[in-house]
Amino acid sequence: MKYKENKLKISNSLTGEKEVFESILDGFVGLYVCGPTVYSHVHLGNCRTFISFDVIYRYLLHLGYKVRYVRNITDAGHLENDAEEGEDKIAKKARLEQLEPMEIVQLYTLDFHKVLNQFNNLPPNIEPTATGHIIEQIEMILEIIDNGFAYESNGSVYFDVEKYNESNNYGELSKRKIEDLVSGTRSLEGQEEKKSPLDFALWKDAKPEHIMKWPSPWGLGFPGWHLECSAMSTKYLGEQFDIHGGGMDLKFPHHECEIAQGTAANGQKPVNYWMHANMLTLNGKKMSKSTGNTLLPEELFSGENEVLGRAYHPIVVRFFMMQAHYASVLDFSAEALNASEKGFTRLMEAVKMIKEVKTNESTSFDVDGLIQKFYDAMNDDFNTPILVAHLFDAAKFIQAVQSGKETISAADREKLSEALNAFVFDILGLTEISEDNSDNGSLDTVMELVLQMRQQARENKDWTTADAIRDKLNEANIVVKDEKDGATWKIQ
Ligand code: AMP
Ligand code: ZN
Repeated sequence: MKYKENKLKISNSLTGEKEVFESILDGFVGLYVCGPTVYSHVHLGNCRTFISFDVIYRYLLHLGYKVRYVRNITDAGHLENDAEEGEDKIAKKARLEQLEPMEIVQLYTLDFHKVLNQFNNLPPNIEPTATGHIIEQIEMILEIIDNGFAYESNGSVYFDVEKYNESNNYGELSKRKIEDLVSGTRSLEGQEEKKSPLDFALWKDAKPEHIMKWPSPWGLGFPGWHLECSAMSTKYLGEQFDIHGGGMDLKFPHHECEIAQGTAANGQKPVNYWMHANMLTLNGKKMSKSTGNTLLPEELFSGENEVLGRAYHPIVVRFFMMQAHYASVLDFSAEALNASEKGFTRLMEAVKMIKEVKTNESTSFDVDGLIQKFYDAMNDDFNTPILVAHLFDAAKFIQAVQSGKETISAADREKLSEALNAFVFDILGLTEISEDNSDNGSLDTVMELVLQMRQQARENKDWTTADAIRDKLNEANIVVKDEKDGATWKIQ
């Protein structure tokens, strides 16, 4: 098990320290990542966070951990502007589009899966929904009330932040002081049901016009947004688990509230390592649906957008994201993406080339040392940009072997090739971009032309030319079939 030889360090947002990772159970990791609210297409910023955690998941797997990766789908309870009052984001979209809320959920869940698949993300092991866990959420609220940390008010239930803070530290994750939070919040106007403006909803009474509602001990209503993650992570990973992740913007209030809920319900802090991925920016500003400063993956893959002017392959975009550390801000630009594309091509050439380079009796380079550097980079809080720099060193060395300036032994060639495959494909999650993937459009055009020429030959009863075209295409693994309505073709 590689995890025994590697001291993986993780930057823990809770302690503010880079800590050696120790899982609760030897060899097992429980990982929870907040998933999307499925009321619109995911933008590239959302994707960055999910890709960052995909690499983290992949590296844990590579180290030999058995990981249970849970990532939820928020399909109820998330209100407009992430606020405590207002319309449910999904219900609002359903109203505007005149669809069922669950049609909205289905549409954008499928879209989310498709996009992450294009980026070659691995699926989580469990993908629970908020609406599928109403019972668990009600049970958790009952426990919190029982323990004295929540109260009912007009059919809603609120978390009592000041009561909790008597024996705990509300604000410990986001490093906020409760006094500052109190003075920073507006008056109780419009929220008279609460004891304090800091209190947050665990359950909300549903107004008659609210369509997504469920029966509860407090009447018809719906769960608060923060509660679903606490209920689902507890259910699938236990009252205390290893790693909880999400975007930086979820630290407060969402994750702060999750810590409070878990502690209030179970008497212990729910998570050992909190990890926060940083934002993708566009023109220096956070990519965000609410400001319209977004780029959709589809716009990028098709080239139909004003920012870039041409299409990029999803794997090139993924590689671009690997060139920044997950906890640093990354700004999106055409120049940066173009540079990544060139780098990606160079790296892929080297990965292919190493299989064919001539071997020698000895190696003129410290291959073991270089492979160790790959591990050191990832062990240092999943430092992908440093890893990529070392992968480029490997590429440079392979080029030099190819041109006869350096030498490699058969055993080292095998070793380096294996390590490159592991880090490039299994851990960074890159894939080779096949010719027909990147070039399908032009192949279609060429094939149309060739088949037209063949048709012409047949009409002229020039069977020799018609058959020669078919046979030559066959040799290139393209099979032509003559059907009633004309010829069709496919790649074998
Ligand atoms: P949401 O569907 O709004 O809950 O967002 C899904 C995930 O995307 C959350 O983890 C957010 O923190 C993350 N996210 C939102 N905007 C960005 C951004 N510009 N860059 C990186 N992650 C983001
Ligand atoms: Zn969450």
